[in-house]
Amino acid sequence: MNATSPSPRKLRVATVSLAGCFGCHMSLLDIDERLFDLVERVEFDRSPLTDIKTVGAVEPCDIGLVEGGLCNAENVEVLRAFRARCTVLVAVGACAITGGLPALRNHLDVGDVMQSVYGRVPDDPELPLPLNRVLPIHEVVRIDHALPGCPPPADAFWQLLQDLMAGRTPVPAPGLIRYD
Ligand code: SF4
Repeated sequence: MNATSPSPRKLRVATVSLAGCFGCHMSLLDIDERLFDLVERVEFDRSPLTDIKTVGAVEPCDIGLVEGGLCNAENVEVLRAFRARCTVLVAVGACAITGGLPALRNHLDVGDVMQSVYGRVPDDPELPLPLNRVLPIHEVVRIDHALPGCPPPADAFWQLLQDLMAGRTPVPAPGLIRYD
């Protein structure tokens, strides 16, 4: 590239943890020194890494990475905003793909669970309404890709991002597909 060539546009990436444990985000950070390469090529939008609160408020995002399933009405609202503002949406990790560990409560009554955990059913109007079942995100919005694992390994994140940044359909290498 010569001195007058414009720099290629950085892809805009948003990430969120819904009903997740942030373990998938920690695994993304485990790409370690490759983070320097990543920030040369992407701009982070809403993400725990930026503290931006509204996805795509400045401009639409190219890629949305969603960790966690849906356990309450706020999760649904945030997920719908991600779908509306991200061209490519990726379900990241077992919780986003299947509901994961939080979905273990699905065979119980949600009121009984609240009573057992908090000693009462919390009724503060500022609290988001819990869903009767914890849902995988594909039950509410269309997803474009899924990255399995609990969490997906850092190398799987890196491969996914490399593929998407290059405009390729991501196909995880067999050794990077995890179901644990
Ligand atoms: Fe945490 Fe595993 Fe769920 Fe990721 S898939 S949010 S690491 S429990």
